[in-house]
Amino acid sequence: MSDQLVIDTLDFVRNAGSLRGRVCPCDLERLQDYLTDKAGELVYSIEGLFDHQDRPMLRIAVSGTVNLSCQRCLEQLEHALELESELLLARNEDELCRYDEDVTVDAIMASTALDILTLIEDEIILSLPNSPRHQDIACLTTSKLEIYRAVTDEHPFAALATLKQ
Ligand SMILES: [Zn+2]
Repeated sequence: MSDQLVIDTLDFVRNAGSLRGRVCPCDLERLQDYLTDKAGELVYSIEGLFDHQDRPMLRIAVSGTVNLSCQRCLEQLEHALELESELLLARNEDELCRYDEDVTVDAIMASTALDILTLIEDEIILSLPNSPRHQDIACLTTSKLEIYRAVTDEHPFAALATLKQ
């Protein structure tokens, strides 16, 4: 594990805090369940600020690549992450309930000890596609191309039909 990075969220906003860093997918344990391997590097940034209504919030950005499994051909699929999210900081349960009713905003409870990497991991997992798939061409170069080769040897015309499907 890399060092734990913990912030006091409201303090971070009041001080217009900002943090940047790199993290390996291998350091994000829950994310592993979604990945085919531990390759890749993620760059993140987190900023504390007030929105136009003077509400404290965190702005999070993560970019990089991770390897998912294509749900069509089951081969590896390189997924480019480019996420940006804004989270309002609720100062109490009432405020959190109010924010939760508003579909235009996302909110979390303010905390005196928020683990940045856990937050980033949550945001990454939320951003992943439910059913990741290659673009057609990429899938063709793996599974369909193998079918094509196998069939072509015996039935060249059948192979063409398969390919047109
Ligand atoms: Zn595929």
